[in-house]
Order: sequence, then C-alpha cells, then structure tokens
Amino acid sequence: MPYEYKGVKISWLGHDSFRITNTKTIYIDPYTIKGGATADIILITHDHFDHLSIEDINKIAGANTVVVASEPCSNKLGKVKVRDVRIVKPGDKLVVDDVEIEAVRAYNVNKFREPGVVFHPREAGGVGYIVVVKGVRIYHAGDSDLIPEMRGLKPDIALLPVSGTYVMTAEEAARAAEELETKVAIPMHYGAIVGSKKDAETFKSLAKCEVVILEKEE
Ligand code: ZN
Ligand code: ZN
Repeated sequence: MPYEYKGVKISWLGHDSFRITNTKTIYIDPYTIKGGATADIILITHDHFDHLSIEDINKIAGANTVVVASEPCSNKLGKVKVRDVRIVKPGDKLVVDDVEIEAVRAYNVNKFREPGVVFHPREAGGVGYIVVVKGVRIYHAGDSDLIPEMRGLKPDIALLPVSGTYVMTAEEAARAAEELETKVAIPMHYGAIVGSKKDAETFKSLAKCEVVILEKEE
C-alpha cells in the first residue's frame, strides 16, 4: 500500500526507489523494479549501480519522460531511451510540468572506503532532491550522511537512508529528521545492498517525528 499525504501517494519499490503519484508519475532511483506506470519524471541521485540503472529507467520510460540526473551520471546515460535528460548540480532548481524540483547536496562525512576517502565525496556531485508536488514537499536524501545542508529544509516527508556503511545509520537518520524539521519520515536504503528492516525499526524508535515504514511494492 502506498503512503498517502494530502492526495500525493508514495510507494516504496525497495532500496532507494520510490514512485510518487498524483496527476504525474515520478520515480526516484528506480532499481530492480518490475515496471509500472510510465514515468513523467525520473530523478537520479548519483551514478552508483544501485541508484543509476539504465535497465530500470528503460522499463518505465515513455516518449515524454524527463530524466533529471546529477553530473556524475551525465556520461553514463547514453543507453537511456529518453530524449529529454537534464543534468543538475546541487542548488539547481527546475520546474517540469507543475512539479518543482531542487537538487541539494548529498555526501559522506564519516563513511570511509579507505582511510581518508569517503564513499560519497562532497565534490563528486551526487545529490538529493526536494520535489514539490501539489504543495507537498518531499525530500529524498540520496546517499548521504547527516550534513549541515539538511538543517531547516522543512519537508513534509523525508525519505532517509538508515542502513549505515555507505549512508546514515538509524541513529544519525533520527537526528537528521530532527535537523530537517520534517513532519513525516520514511526510511530507505535497506533490504537490498546493506541493512534490514531492523534498521528501519530502530530509526522509528529513535525519531521524534512520525515515521512510516512502507512495505515494498512492485
Ligand atoms: Zn552510492
Ligand atoms: Zn546507495
């Protein structure tokens, strides 16, 4: 079942993948999805295989689909069956149909690949997104740690990674929810590459806002 907030429906398709629907259909980071309604907009946070999947984008792409992707994706979208691709960097804002989209920073501060090298460096250009659909403000954090740029973003709904290793832990995500001043939080980035539902439940027990743990949909 999707979560519904003021007429906007949010379905979790596993890992960091979501489908947001009202009059438009928006996907974020489709990965190992079955398919489904043709996308009006597809947002890609960064170029890691579990976020940028050409195969999955092509399952939901149609003649009028717009793909919005961060700079590190720009030379990896060649096989995508979409004509309208827009490359964004943090701070960029655009309006597609009546959907407002803002790219915001996403990066690691303390999740290291090797000493001194984080998995998602700030300068790599990966992003999160703020999407405003029918006045409902949805924030997808991308692969990020708790970073100062999150402070006061005030979304209605925050989609937050909780699995640790490459992204925030459940504890850090609970603090992020507070810094963001979000009304509702939905945990993500577990159940596929790293992390389990237990991380989502830990997050729920720690966060001070309303937390909705979604069942994975097809
Ligand atoms: Zn990543
Ligand atoms: Zn990831």
